Amino acid sequence: MSRVHAPRGLAELLALRADLPGAALMAGGTDLVPRSRARGGLPEDVILLQDVPELHGITSGKGLLRIGAAATHAALLADPRVGRGLPVLARALACLASPAIRNMGSIGGNICTASPAGDTLPPLHVLEARVELAGREGVRELSLAEFILGPGRTALGPGEVLCAVLVPRPEGFSLQHFEKVGLRGAMAIAVVSLAAMLRLDGRGRVAEARLAWGSAGPAVVRCPAAEAALLGRRPTLSALRAAARHARAAVRPIDDLRASAAYRREVAGNLLLRLADLSSR
Ligand SMILES: Cc1cc2nc3c(=O)[nH]c(=O)nc-3n(C[C@H](O)[C@H](O)[C@H](O)COP(=O)(O)OP(=O)(O)OC[C@H]3O[C@@H](n4cnc5c(N)ncnc54)[C@H](O)[C@@H]3O)c2cc1C
Repeated sequence: MSRVHAPRGLAELLALRADLPGAALMAGGTDLVPRSRARGGLPEDVILLQDVPELHGITSGKGLLRIGAAATHAALLADPRVGRGLPVLARALACLASPAIRNMGSIGGNICTASPAGDTLPPLHVLEARVELAGREGVRELSLAEFILGPGRTALGPGEVLCAVLVPRPEGFSLQHFEKVGLRGAMAIAVVSLAAMLRLDGRGRVAEARLAWGSAGPAVVRCPAAEAALLGRRPTLSALRAAARHARAAVRPIDDLRASAAYRREVAGNLLLRLADLSSR
């Protein structure tokens, strides 16, 4: 049986974190509970994040959205600043698990789980989001690439919590797209996913491309060579095929029960080809 602690504010949370270094933090519990059960049960102490107001809510200002780490996927989808303003993230949230899991699961939990298949991670990479970490020594910010060190591994320090995700408001990206390939239409863990943002110039040529793949390596894969291959070109099938060749060379997928590495590599490139249809609409 675990002892459950429910701090009412960030200061109380950080004090508990310092006093109970072995305690598990729990937001929605949709990752923590099944994973702990598989290992024989929850740790002796569990610290709930639900009642910490500093970890909730979305605020906008200074060109960015500050999303509280404990904000649920459903709350984010219901907020027009995410639902309409960040379509690449909204599309990923809409296909994450099921309505019940989206009502419980949080963006912070998805990030801290650091799964290669975490659905919010590729969109947050192309949005160039940063994470805000708080500890008793103060607050620090890291990029996602700095924060996620590998499957299940993050740069979260022993006394720290993830407080918020800082998302710069994207300017001028006419195409924002997320697509997940899974083994079924819903409740599917990504076999491969792609988040893409394209900014086009007045002549319809790519002025900036941001591409990130999930389930294609130990962490999200960005491919600067694929992005560069699109620059100055219209996003036609032939330009995207050239970018796809770079993507297939850059990804580092594994074989597992859901798919082979070879299949994932092929699909990682193919997902790019969809952008031709989308940008011609
Ligand atoms: C049936 C099912 C289907 C699922 N399908 C998907 C899917 O399609 N796509 C997908 O991406 N995920 C999926 N998941 C995984 C999970 O639902 C998500 O990753 C969810 O976002 C986790 O959020 P949570 O709040 O429940 O995290 P929790 O379980 O509460 O926490 C997860 C981990 O993060 C840590 N943590 C949480 N918040 C913080 C914080 N603020 N600071 C520091 N550490 C923190 C916890 O200590 C724990 O280690 C699924 C899970 C289930 C059970």
